[in-house]
Amino acid sequence: MIFKSFNNKSFKHTDYYTRLPEEEREIFDVLSSVFHFKVNNYVLEHLIHWDNVPQDPIYKLVFPRKEMLSALDYEKLRQLFKIGLDEKTRNNFVQAVKKKMYPEVKHAETGFPKMDDKIITGAYRNFPTILNLFPDPMVKTCHAYCSYCFRWVAFDNIEAQKKTAYRDPNDPVAYLKANPEITDVLFTGADPLVLKAETLKKYIDPVLEIESVQVIRINSKALGWWPYRFTTDKDADALLELFEYIQSKGKHLNFSAHFTHSRELENEVVKEAIQRIKQTGTVIRCQGPLVKGINDTVEDLVLLWREQIAKGLVPYYLFVEADHNPESCFRIPLAKALHIFQEAQKRTTGLARTVRGPVFMNDLNRVLLDGVTEVNGEKYFVLKSLQSPPETDGEGKIKLIPFDDQIKDAGNLFELFKEDRSLVDIL
Ligand code: SF4
Repeated sequence: MIFKSFNNKSFKHTDYYTRLPEEEREIFDVLSSVFHFKVNNYVLEHLIHWDNVPQDPIYKLVFPRKEMLSALDYEKLRQLFKIGLDEKTRNNFVQAVKKKMYPEVKHAETGFPKMDDKIITGAYRNFPTILNLFPDPMVKTCHAYCSYCFRWVAFDNIEAQKKTAYRDPNDPVAYLKANPEITDVLFTGADPLVLKAETLKKYIDPVLEIESVQVIRINSKALGWWPYRFTTDKDADALLELFEYIQSKGKHLNFSAHFTHSRELENEVVKEAIQRIKQTGTVIRCQGPLVKGINDTVEDLVLLWREQIAKGLVPYYLFVEADHNPESCFRIPLAKALHIFQEAQKRTTGLARTVRGPVFMNDLNRVLLDGVTEVNGEKYFVLKSLQSPPETDGEGKIKLIPFDDQIKDAGNLFELFKEDRSLVDIL
């Protein structure tokens, strides 16, 4: 299959657009003016079940939903479309709405590594042993966009891309050498695997020379969105050779595959792509968020983990969807998330217990929602910090917050784990 992608304009010229129910077409027109949209021919032809639109989970995974905007903004925007205002005239309101939707990254500054008081552009360090790297071409795009993704602001934004990425592959080298406690380097994006293998190699090569770096991590949704990246793309073989090359340098290569729904793992192309990656010795660990309407039932998780185990993949993290969308329309109550996770675990092989979840991942903390407990007749959620910035000394700590079967977030995790309070104080 040759890769063909469609944006909000070109998608309207496909047969799929005409197949959308009328209301969905309207929602698409209105929302794709605010949010970035990208889909490809594989997702359209093989993943979405068109007979089930708009309920289909993969459809919801790609196409924007009404609830992403406040009811008021959606209605105002809809009216502007209805009276037939041209794009230019609508633009002021679209930009204002867009601005409101910008994800808030509360502690970004804390994660910017510095050397001689100068920020290392294109690097982010929220945990002591991992450095996240964002080479310039990597932050630009993915094979398709997920409706719940908070990175959409950077997709078409040259300014944002410049500020958050580096161009010279040697830029992070001095910092890594000066900080040998960093053992893992993570290449992330958008999606690093949209790049040609030779470009990727240019950025990975300097890192391989640093002895203290033991693990190269690549986060990608290419297996879900475009498995041909590992099979028939022109440089698919070169990419797999790169995977082998990284390991020949004595590094562990971890491929963190982003999967949300079991259907992404079901067809023959994915199967073949996984086999080819595994033949290089690369370990594939799977992660993804729990998302309302897409994978928020026990059955969904059971199927997802079963598919992963059957294909020899390692379930790794199940995240609580990052709260970067002001409407939080993708989130489910924490109590429900915990219930789904625990019930699904009971119904899956013990091999799936490698997965940790539900886990909150914000700009500075990785916190596990570990259960519910009762103290003096009151119920509490049990939160455990898996990783936190060294200055907060929060790692490994357990905190309790009052149980509420409707709440969808756990409040300010940064402050919670920074506080030097014992459980006794809290209670
Ligand atoms: S593949 Fe990852 S970075 Fe790209 S849109 Fe989806 S969640 Fe965002």
